[in-house]
Amino acid sequence: MCDGAGLAELAEEHGTPLYVYSAEQIVYRYGLFEAATWNSMGERRHTVCYSVKANSSLAILKLLGDRGAGFDIVSGGELARVRKVCKPALKRVVFSGVGKQAWEIDAALKAGILIFNVESEAELALLGERAAKLGAKARFALRVNPDVFAETHPYISTGMSEHKFGIEIGLARAIYRRAAKNKSLNAAGVSVHIGSQIRSVEPFRAAMERVTGLIAELRGDGHRIRYVDAGGGLGIDYSDAAFDPAAEVARYAAAIGPVLGDTGLHLLLEPGRFIVAQAGGLLTRVLYVKKNGAKTFVVTDAGMNDLIRPSLYQGHHEILPVTLRSGAETTVDVVGPVCESADFFARDRVMGAVKPGELVIVLDAGAYGMSMSSNYNSRTRPAEVLVKGKKARVVRRRETVKELMGMESV
Ligand SMILES: *Cc1c(COP(=O)(O)O)cnc(C)c1O
Repeated sequence: MCDGAGLAELAEEHGTPLYVYSAEQIVYRYGLFEAATWNSMGERRHTVCYSVKANSSLAILKLLGDRGAGFDIVSGGELARVRKVCKPALKRVVFSGVGKQAWEIDAALKAGILIFNVESEAELALLGERAAKLGAKARFALRVNPDVFAETHPYISTGMSEHKFGIEIGLARAIYRRAAKNKSLNAAGVSVHIGSQIRSVEPFRAAMERVTGLIAELRGDGHRIRYVDAGGGLGIDYSDAAFDPAAEVARYAAAIGPVLGDTGLHLLLEPGRFIVAQAGGLLTRVLYVKKNGAKTFVVTDAGMNDLIRPSLYQGHHEILPVTLRSGAETTVDVVGPVCESADFFARDRVMGAVKPGELVIVLDAGAYGMSMSSNYNSRTRPAEVLVKGKKARVVRRRETVKELMGMESV
């Protein structure tokens, strides 16, 4: 089941592969960040800016935007998504990313977003130019690189000085000083984002400590810094171990809240994965079970183009047969139909026996699943359904092969 909806019925009605999301779980996870105590003064001065890239489904954005969420965007495309479903949320948008283009900056300025997280001095210069041209004043935060090590996969670690992200923290003060001369720029904050799928809260605390130290200096220099953006990155447990999301958010808040102390800063948070990962699964049907040498392969109709985390990050996902049958567990590789040896969901996995035609669900696939999917091998991407109670609504229908070719000419 996904809440009140039966997975077998969903597969029957909508076909596979199919992304299935629980609206209740998404709203619950968002609420944990919203309700947590983030500062010792007991004031409610924070905005939860859901990171759109984790899952950019319009229906999910609407679900969150209507409940007061802000959004962390990384492109003009993501800005357009927010605008389409929740115009009032535009003023709660933070714009991150190392390669913002002039048209994206213009669109965000016109939309009146909350703040630009600027990642280089050249980008800051461009932001100043575009704002001057539009007669606007751009609020910005430098995304600083605190040089904090966060234990995670190297592809999703971002807060060390060798990474492309952010500006070396030691250089920030001089950049703010130069920016103060530009009438089109408003130095409103400082931001940081040290990576993704981080399970220990200590790196978050260490990063926040460096950032608040910088803010104290900046305020001393006369800048009116009002916002501190802690970024996203809080990890989940992809294994089958017990996981208490409320306790995890409380632990995270207890790590960074005290660092904010009585600074009066407005805290911005950019969680993505933590909100949507465990709210979603990828439902797929077993096509074949085959043996090659000593190995048994379960071939599913979903592939790496639908969910790339195992191939790209060695990401672990629990996989369960939808119908539990008695019988011995077997050790199998669960693989997709894509013509790549990297096309697997699990290797040497001990799981309940499955037969061709049966369904399995790849768990915790709500984040960086559909949003990273592709049409590789000319495969149409999965449909998506959003479950509310017993009702499931198709929030993205399956693509057709004809549509895949629709943009091409010969
Ligand atoms: C990807 C990203 C996030 C979200 O990270 P999660 O690990 O999904 O919480 C937040 N902020 C920035 C700048 C990002 O690039």
